[in-house]
Amino acid sequence: MQRAGKGRTPRRPKKPSNIEKDPVGVYCRIRPLGGEDEECCVEMISSSTIQLHAPDGLKANRNGEYKETQYCFKKVFGIKTTQIELFEDVAKPLIEDLIHCKNGLLFTYGVTGSGKTYTMTGSPGEGGLLPRSLDMLFNSIGPFQAKRFVFKPDEKNGIEVQNQVDALLERQKRDNQQSVPRTPSSRQRADPEFADMINPDQACKFEGVDEDCCYSVFVSYIEIYNNYIYDLLEDAPFDPVRPKPPQSKILREDQNHNMYVAGCTEVEVKSTEEAFEVFWKGQKKRRIANTELNRESSRSHSVFTVKLAQAPLDADGDHILQDKSQVNVSQLCLVDLAGSERTSRTRAEGSRLREAGNINQSLMTLRTCMEVLRENQMCGTNRMVPYRDSKVTHLFKNYFDGEGKVRMVVCVNPKAEDYEETLLVMRFAEMTQEVEVARPVDRPICGLTPGRRQRNQAFKDELSRRLEERGGPVNGDPIQLNQLIESLPPLPPCELSDPSDDQTLPRLMEVLERRYRIRQKMTEQFNQTANNMKYTLQQFESQFSSKENVLHDQRSKLGEKDKVIANQRTEIERLEKKSKTLEYKIDILQKTTEMYEQDKRSLQQELEGREQRLQKELAERRRMEQRMQGMVTDTKLKWERECERRVNAKQLELQNKLWVKDEKLKQLKAIVTENGGASGGPAEPPRKPERPSRERDRNIVEKRSASPTPLSTVPPVHPMHRRSHSAGGEKWVDHKPASNLDLDTVMQPIIPNAIKVSTPNEKALSKCHKYVLRHQELASDGEIETKLIKGNVFKTRGGGQAVEFTDIETLKQEDPTAPSRKRRSGSREGPAQTDDIENRPPVANISSSHGYQKRRRP
Ligand code: ADP
Ligand code: MG
Repeated sequence: MQRAGKGRTPRRPKKPSNIEKDPVGVYCRIRPLGGEDEECCVEMISSSTIQLHAPDGLKANRNGEYKETQYCFKKVFGIKTTQIELFEDVAKPLIEDLIHCKNGLLFTYGVTGSGKTYTMTGSPGEGGLLPRSLDMLFNSIGPFQAKRFVFKPDEKNGIEVQNQVDALLERQKRDNQQSVPRTPSSRQRADPEFADMINPDQACKFEGVDEDCCYSVFVSYIEIYNNYIYDLLEDAPFDPVRPKPPQSKILREDQNHNMYVAGCTEVEVKSTEEAFEVFWKGQKKRRIANTELNRESSRSHSVFTVKLAQAPLDADGDHILQDKSQVNVSQLCLVDLAGSERTSRTRAEGSRLREAGNINQSLMTLRTCMEVLRENQMCGTNRMVPYRDSKVTHLFKNYFDGEGKVRMVVCVNPKAEDYEETLLVMRFAEMTQEVEVARPVDRPICGLTPGRRQRNQAFKDELSRRLEERGGPVNGDPIQLNQLIESLPPLPPCELSDPSDDQTLPRLMEVLERRYRIRQKMTEQFNQTANNMKYTLQQFESQFSSKENVLHDQRSKLGEKDKVIANQRTEIERLEKKSKTLEYKIDILQKTTEMYEQDKRSLQQELEGREQRLQKELAERRRMEQRMQGMVTDTKLKWERECERRVNAKQLELQNKLWVKDEKLKQLKAIVTENGGASGGPAEPPRKPERPSRERDRNIVEKRSASPTPLSTVPPVHPMHRRSHSAGGEKWVDHKPASNLDLDTVMQPIIPNAIKVSTPNEKALSKCHKYVLRHQELASDGEIETKLIKGNVFKTRGGGQAVEFTDIETLKQEDPTAPSRKRRSGSREGPAQTDDIENRPPVANISSSHGYQKRRRP
């Protein structure tokens, strides 16, 4: 026998925190007012917003303190909304999720009479969310349902899968217990109240069902009253004489930390009708208990749970895969909560009041849990959510801290009396919308190839078609039958011709008895063979199924390996791509690096060049500095010398001036003496050189014309006579005053045959024809100028000598570095030292033809 596989419980272990989350979907449904003349305080202003107006009486009481308030929801359903419209929006996605192995929680919330039960259950012809959900589920999975008892709930919130033989045995047991099997049609006749809940036109179906799976639906129905859990499907005999209070159930946590009601009845149902029958049974029980135990029905929460177990078909597509790890279980809880109004409104007393307090307490806990959850999620706090404070919240804990889709329909009665309660309901609804629940993830699919069921069905169809072609299955071969009959002892003739014949009948009886014995023997033999055959077949089957399982295991392993390989391949591809991009990046980076390095090299070269140039410049500068220093020292020395020289020159000039004046005085004296001599004295004093002046010369000439004329009439001036002193053979008196400075010049007047005197005397003059005076004076540029003042010596009538100045040669020394010195225009560039020898006429204003210059470069 095959070991039973166990289904997974709805929630899986805790997930990392980066999972996707969805807010709780909160919808609002406004029911129509009871009477047309009633005051309405709720208005739907858009498809997602409603507005609450304070009723007139309340406004008056609170001095108009109440204002209109607006509340937003995922969607608002107005009074005209039909049940099917609501179902399409609210519950249909939850059924689709359920079929996709995802859990859902749907609850209605609101004050008593606001339409919670109407919304959840509905009324005949106006089925609510619950019957429609069941209908859609069975419409979708109908043809793919497993046989009864193939899936079997364990006692620990899981579902096991049984092999076919066990399932068959259980089915037979059940059939034996139910002496009169009930059919859905008989049920419908029995409960006309729930007949035609759903109009067949409005049947919904989900098309995305995996056909290669087998499905089973289990329902359970509990009621939570006064914080006690009661199983509404429990088959406890109810004693109307001495009613025993129903036993409450406890909550347990399964191995995956999911909460479940321990020992709660889970009924496997195969159709909408059957499921509804079960629901209706629970409803009846609830009603009876409420009446018998004097309970307030609006104060209890009812939880109808639809569990869907699914497992894939094996590779042949014929049977369910006997692999516990492949069984998936998802559940949808449909909760009709108790009225949310406060106790005072129900005017309850005594134990009723206490109970009502507990009911309120559970809704309070629900509110608190939502608040804490929201705070934790929005502010990142980690406050403990008090799920355990009430059974309702404890039971649904896994939806909020695990995963699932949670939806709430807030029912509103727009009548004025409910206004204040409705306000509280709205606040709770608004807050709940901000709570987020982890989005359920898709379950992994099994590794088997899809389309198995269809292939198997096609195979079966083909087989039966072929059999039919052959004339159908053979029930009995007439030849074999004849042979069998022939092998029996032949019947004796049994014609009775004589009434006294007492042999025929006993003979016949004997033969018949023999035949009977043979038949019995043959039956025994047949039974034995059949048993043997059965045993062999069973063995064969078990071998076959174990082989099949091994095969399946291998296949699933293969599938897993394939998956791993595919994953690794994609990973490799991804890594290859990544490495390519990285290589490309490296390439670019290398190129960039090369570029930068080149730049660096050229910059370094440039730097080196500049450094070299700098060094050179520095060296140059040092050299320059040294040179400049040398020059400064030179210049300083020169200037010192120069200053000295100038001081001496000035002294000389002054002396010269003094001397010239003396000379003039002497000449004047001599002239005076000579005049005196000519007029009265015998001797004429020799003429002394004087400052040449045309005017004076004229005067002198005029004066002289009155006086005895000189011996020679030759004009004393020879303007064109520019012969060098060395040209002729004249004798010269070279008058060099003692005050003259020795200038160390290269150009020195050298006059051969000259009588050198420091003061002219008559004796020297008498011996010579030419006279030259070396006269030094300070020029305008501060240089010492040496003037060679030349003249002819002639004899005066008085027997003396007179000198007639005819020519002046100027010798001038220049300092090339002297800053004050200005170059004459047209002069050559460069600070060349120049000795100028200027020939000037003796008279400053004399004809310019005497301005002939001779310049020599050193
Ligand atoms: P609750 O369960 O919230 O106490 P019920 O569902 O029992 O309220 O509704 C009270 C009454 O109002 C019922 O008779 C129900 O038929 C009616 N009712 C509620 N909602 C609607 C609706 N949307 N349209 C028509 N009737 C409604
Ligand atoms: Mg109700």
